[in-house]
Amino acid sequence: MPEQPIFEPRPAMDAGVPVPPAPSDDEAMPAPSVSRAYQCQCGRPVFLRNSECLACGTPLGFVVERLGVLPLAPAADEGVYTVFGEPRGPLLQRCDNFGSAIGCNWMRPVDPAAAEAQGLVEGLCLSCSTTRTIPDLSVPENPRLWNLLEQAKRRLLSQLLALGLPVRTRTADPAHGLAFDLLSEQPDRPVLTGHAEGVITLNIAEADDAVRERVRVQMHEPYRTLLGHFRHEIGHYYWDVLVAPQPQWLDDFRTLFGDERADYAQALQQHYANGPKADWATHFVSTYAGAHPWEDWAETWAHYLHMADTADTALSFGVNAARADLADEDLFHAEHLWRPDHPDAQTFLDFLNGWVRLTHVLNEFSRSMGQPDIYPFVLPHAVVPKLQFIHLLVAQQREAAPVDAAAPAGNAGAASAKVEGR
Ligand SMILES: [Zn+2]
Ligand SMILES: [Zn+2]
Ligand SMILES: [Zn+2]
Repeated sequence: MPEQPIFEPRPAMDAGVPVPPAPSDDEAMPAPSVSRAYQCQCGRPVFLRNSECLACGTPLGFVVERLGVLPLAPAADEGVYTVFGEPRGPLLQRCDNFGSAIGCNWMRPVDPAAAEAQGLVEGLCLSCSTTRTIPDLSVPENPRLWNLLEQAKRRLLSQLLALGLPVRTRTADPAHGLAFDLLSEQPDRPVLTGHAEGVITLNIAEADDAVRERVRVQMHEPYRTLLGHFRHEIGHYYWDVLVAPQPQWLDDFRTLFGDERADYAQALQQHYANGPKADWATHFVSTYAGAHPWEDWAETWAHYLHMADTADTALSFGVNAARADLADEDLFHAEHLWRPDHPDAQTFLDFLNGWVRLTHVLNEFSRSMGQPDIYPFVLPHAVVPKLQFIHLLVAQQREAAPVDAAAPAGNAGAASAKVEGR
């Protein structure tokens, strides 16, 4: 009789998420910092959004403590689960929004103390606990837009957790915790995307492809996505939480990005009135980054998250662009770094050059399908020190708070509101 399939985690990361085996050829491939390839107990690949295995029907859910989508097994009580193959493990239940328009597949702990430690709202998972205002669901298209927004937010949060960054809800920290207001515009109430003291406001119309594409073209942007908005705004949040309260990092920030005490409203007004600076492309990752040091920070931060997630996904699925043949001048070298003598410098340089090779290949893929480039940017040398600053700041956080879902964020520093006006 054939044996029942057993869920056997393959060589795992610290968080217990299976990672693909090393490639068999002689090309060395770095390990992803967190696996983006998930697997059912039956061996079938499953994805971040899945709540049930299409092959074997096993329930699936995102388990915050394990940083991934895992197969689940029903426990004795109705609606209660454990991770498949771990009947003595912590009891989990589905987020109340599983049955809502967003079909949330994140799990929450049954244990009230564990739920409190994560700062959860009653009945909700960590991601849904960060949403303070949802759109009016009696408006016919809003359920679909809300679904798209929450999907993008779950991807954002899953990465922040994997990077070891603090994700602290408003329930845990009513003054500075993270809260998302997902608002729709009314004739008398425009909604401006922005961040103020942990509250991130997004216009739900941005979830509509036609609207977002029209704005993208109007603003001459090469890239505009929901995930990009979330990554940019969370950058402002982490500036308040990680940079402002640490004097040494704040000094270095000012050296690399400029002095953020420059008048913000005036800078933005100038940016919109006069257009981007003529030489923006040699200093910044985007035109908007040139508007003010805070925007440079948020744009570069979003970029770092794009790079890290896409590289992790590539590595998780065994995609290795190491053989992409690039000219030496297309690659980065130690002299381009902010801290070339840092013990981690070579790893960071390998990550950067791996990224250059990967996007070189991915963009050719896009072109061969007649699609816009997946990565429509050129990284100027001047952006590399800023990216390394962010890389080292994130690494510092990870070392300080290894894989803790609701790690305290420390005291927020000189918080100030940023309304993008875009
Ligand atoms: Zn399965
Ligand atoms: Zn949820
Ligand atoms: Zn911004």
